[in-house]
Order: sequence, then structure tokens, then C-alpha cells
Amino acid sequence: MSRAKPAAPRRPLIAGNWKMHRTASDTRTLIEDIVKRVDRVAYADIVVCPPFTSLPAAHETLGRHSIIALGAQTMHSAKEGAFTGEISGPMLREFGVRYVILGHSERRQFDHETDAKVAAKAIAAVHFHLRPIVCVGETLTQREAKETASIIETQVRSSLAGFPPDQLEELVIAYEPVWAIGTGKVATPKQANDVHQQIRKLLVSLFGPTGSAIRILYGGSVKPENAPDLMTQPDIDGALVGGASLDSQAFFDIIESARPARASDHD
Ligand code: PEP
Repeated sequence: MSRAKPAAPRRPLIAGNWKMHRTASDTRTLIEDIVKRVDRVAYADIVVCPPFTSLPAAHETLGRHSIIALGAQTMHSAKEGAFTGEISGPMLREFGVRYVILGHSERRQFDHETDAKVAAKAIAAVHFHLRPIVCVGETLTQREAKETASIIETQVRSSLAGFPPDQLEELVIAYEPVWAIGTGKVATPKQANDVHQQIRKLLVSLFGPTGSAIRILYGGSVKPENAPDLMTQPDIDGALVGGASLDSQAFFDIIESARPARASDHD
């Protein structure tokens, strides 16, 4: 499957959010299965985000020079301190982690992760050499009340408050409509692209031309069946995949759908 849009300057990125799934031993098996499938993929950045306890096993299984990067599902903004149950950037770096998901709707909902906390974490992430994947998205009630545009604008502005402009190339945004996460209800390609376009304009207005290089991923019930139509949208630069990333074949099929037109395995 190939992308119909003209060659985009933004390299596709497909990230798997494993959420609270897979023990360390199960992680080794899943990572091995994914590696076998994506071994020759050179057209996209691939990230897997297992639970904290599985990061050492994932790191060991991937080895130092894997084409798959490791991500975490959250982090604390402080380097260390009296924060029971939390994990810091330097702790993640020690296990080869290069990306970190911030402000996922499940953390916003269940762990009171506010825009202000996300902003502090995003700044800390780049300080500790981690690439933040900052999640934003509206609820079903907000969409039905036609508040999507204003909610997204507020979340993007506030979650990026104080973000260092010289670190913008490290930043990734994920648009994840809350009503589409884990529900099987996917946004239509047009619904998703419209919001991506809005986020893109906002990023350019906030950061100037560099804003157009920031990758914006779509997340919310992405599956092999719907990925091709989403990935061919001009403003969608990849996917943040939950459930389907736990199935190596499904995850690979989604990665395949992000292959730019005319790209060969070795491009
Ligand atoms: C997610 O967890 O970020 C997500 C999009 O989940 P799912 O793909 O299962 O909807």
C-alpha cells in the first residue's frame, strides 16, 4: 500500500502504545516478532512504548542499533525527588528510551495530567534528550457541541507553553480524539485531516516555518483496514497505535500503509 500524496518532507512515524499490557517475558517475544517483520523498513520511524517494567527487556531484545526506537508512556518532569511511583527522564534514558508519550487522554482522565503538567514534562523531556509525543484530543461531548477546534487550540497552546524553540525538531504531536481511543470508532480521514490541518496552522503561527516540520500523528482505533486511508491524508504524518500495536502483523501492516509513494524498502 502506498501514499497517494506527493513526497512529503516529514518522515512518517508509527508509534505503538502498549498501555498496561505485556510482562517483561512477553515483551521479548513481541519485540522479536515485530523486529522480524520490520527489519527492512527504512521509510518510517518506528517506536514501541511498553510499560516501564518491560523497558529493560525491550532494550535488551532490540539491541543498541535497532531501527525500532523505544518510548515510554509518561514521565515526571523532575530529575529526581520525593515523587512516589514516578519515573524521571534520566531513568528512562538509562534503558535506551528516546521518545515519551505525554498527555495521553487516559492519563489526562485518570491521573489528572493537565496541560500545565504536560507542558512542564515536554520541556523536561527535551532537556533530558527525549522526544515528546504530546497528545491532544476532544471528547465526544465536545465534538458534538462543535467545540473541537477551540479545545484543540487550547490544548496545543497550553501543552506547548514555554517549549524551547530550538528543540522543535524533537517534538511530535498526536491528535487522538478521545471518542476514538479503544472504541473501534475511528475518525473519518477527512475529520482527522481537518484537525491536523488546524494544528499545523497553529504550529506555524506559534513557531514560524519550523512549525511545518513538526510531525502530527493520528491516534484512535487505527487498524490495518483503516490505516491506508488515514495515512494518505496530506496532513497526517503517521499514527499512534494502541490495541493493534500488540499484534506484530497488524502493527507491520499499519507501518506499511505509511510507506511514501515510490519508496522502496531501501529508500
Ligand atoms: C492509544 O492508546 O493511543 C490509542 C490510540 O489506542 P487504540 O489504537 O487502541 O484506540
